[in-house]
Amino acid sequence: MTDKKITEATEKKSLNFIEQAIVNDLKEGKNDGRVQTRFPPEPNGYLHIGHAKAINIDFSMAEKYDGVCNLRFDDTNPVKEDVEYVDAIKEDIEWLGFHWDNIYYASDYFQQLWDFAVELIKDGKAYIDEQSAEEIAAQKGTPTTPGKDSPYRNRPVEESLSLFAKMNTGEVEEGEMVLRAKIDMANANMHFRDPIIYRVIKHHHHRTGDHWKAYPMYDFAHGQSDYFEGVTHSICTLEFEVHRPLYNYFIDELKDHLDENCDYRPRQMEFNRLNLTYTVMSKRKLLTLVQEDLVHGWDDPRMPTICGFRRRGYSPESIKNFLDLIGYTKYEALNDFSLLESAVREDLNKRATRVSAVLDPIKLIITNYPEHKVEELECIDNPEDPNSPVHNIEFSRELWIERDDFMEDAPKKYFRMTPGQEVRLKSAYIVKCTGCKKDEEGNLMEVYCEYDADTLSGMPGASRKVKGTLHWVSSNHCLPAEVRLYDRLFTVENPNTEDNKDFRELINPDSLTVLTNCYVEKYLQNFKPGDHLQFQRIGYFTPDKDSATDKLVFNRTVGLRDSWGKINKQNK
Ligand code: ATP
Ligand code: MG
Repeated sequence: MTDKKITEATEKKSLNFIEQAIVNDLKEGKNDGRVQTRFPPEPNGYLHIGHAKAINIDFSMAEKYDGVCNLRFDDTNPVKEDVEYVDAIKEDIEWLGFHWDNIYYASDYFQQLWDFAVELIKDGKAYIDEQSAEEIAAQKGTPTTPGKDSPYRNRPVEESLSLFAKMNTGEVEEGEMVLRAKIDMANANMHFRDPIIYRVIKHHHHRTGDHWKAYPMYDFAHGQSDYFEGVTHSICTLEFEVHRPLYNYFIDELKDHLDENCDYRPRQMEFNRLNLTYTVMSKRKLLTLVQEDLVHGWDDPRMPTICGFRRRGYSPESIKNFLDLIGYTKYEALNDFSLLESAVREDLNKRATRVSAVLDPIKLIITNYPEHKVEELECIDNPEDPNSPVHNIEFSRELWIERDDFMEDAPKKYFRMTPGQEVRLKSAYIVKCTGCKKDEEGNLMEVYCEYDADTLSGMPGASRKVKGTLHWVSSNHCLPAEVRLYDRLFTVENPNTEDNKDFRELINPDSLTVLTNCYVEKYLQNFKPGDHLQFQRIGYFTPDKDSATDKLVFNRTVGLRDSWGKINKQNK
């Protein structure tokens, strides 16, 4: 670690408390000036944007201070875990733009953890308890009253050793007995009241197979794994704050046992979880949504998962900008989904290709435009980029425009298509609406207009001021498309706190709208999922993975403006 970096970092006033602590440790020369972090997901589900908050701090601190960040799968519960999740987690981290130094698994340490547990038993610091989970819970006491000792607490060491061995041979059934650390049944911190450190799980493990039947609990695996790997800063969320003394206790015991007197020790630090309005973030609830087909898989664009957001067209940069915006603190908060969306908009404005698409088409006929004439008009892909490429769009006598861009009897301030009024067709001519045709039931069939041939951009008449500009596609030169519009997945701000309701009942029935009768310009054939597009005047879109050459499908990433926030305020 260079002194220059520490000085630079300190000079910046706005360091969050985690970075500040890391810089202080470096200044004090702790851990030989090393910074090592880890991201420790349990492979029991897909990553969501909350995980991205943890990933962002773990990886960026290591990057910034020339350190190491490892990916460690916390695979201590084989029942819920699977390789499918391991692979998905890796893909999502890479997509976010982060690179791990090594991949480890908590299961890499099962033997070391077992040996350490045996040592604790030998030292009289752990014992086998044959009570049921309920009995153990009933003896725990409350934060203000001490717990009661288990009748097995003082059993002979030899007995515990032999039973512990049996816990791993298959002779002991699940729930029949557990290994508990013998610490302090009266401690004010409930986690010290003889915590369970091993239990029996008879389930095939995706890496260690059937070798183990006894599995360590989180508290007995996490800190020690950090220690074995050389983690210096073990960053996690606030709910682990109360576990920190136990984390330190086991590390002290482990150092003693390994007879390691070095100064090195990992330090646990906790920050506030990310909670977002109008969604749920618990893996259990997300899994329920998937398993009960309430959404279409983990990567449904309405899901708060990384793969869902990716499919929806969010960029990794917009997610990281959002995370930097909300920051890392010690206070729990509920963050507004609209804030995430505005970060997405801001980023996509810089990178999206501007194109034309009509989602609810009505035919516009330019009656004074020659019948077989086709012009190739130039469109700038991205006006925000001075070096932007351009592409051509065909213009002809018959176009599609949006149905709600026409009104027969319009109020005064309607600046779109209405008889007698002039509007500009984007990148093309100024036209004047001359009327429309309706069927017998009064349904609008076609709209008519006349164009002024002198008003194409670059021509003398082009500078004439008109108030409205409409987008369009040429009906003989466009492609049909399906467009999927997404809205909030839940109808209430915080589906987690509606205690008397099942969260399934709070799902927004209008969270997905599929438009099957859209038209897009031909240029859109060339794009693939993950490319960022702006359908002019409508919003940001990306091709969906269901898109095929003969059936284009697009997802709406986000609208151009925060119409949702406004509507919501009006309703209140
Ligand atoms: P579960 O829902 O099964 O309890 P989890 O959300 O805690 O799981 P893990 O795989 O254990 O998921 O999490 C890996 C890391 O991500 C942990 O360090 C955890 O603190 C962090 N993390 C999880 N959810 C959030 C969140 N909403 N905000 C910030 N960090 C989170
Ligand atoms: Mg967890």
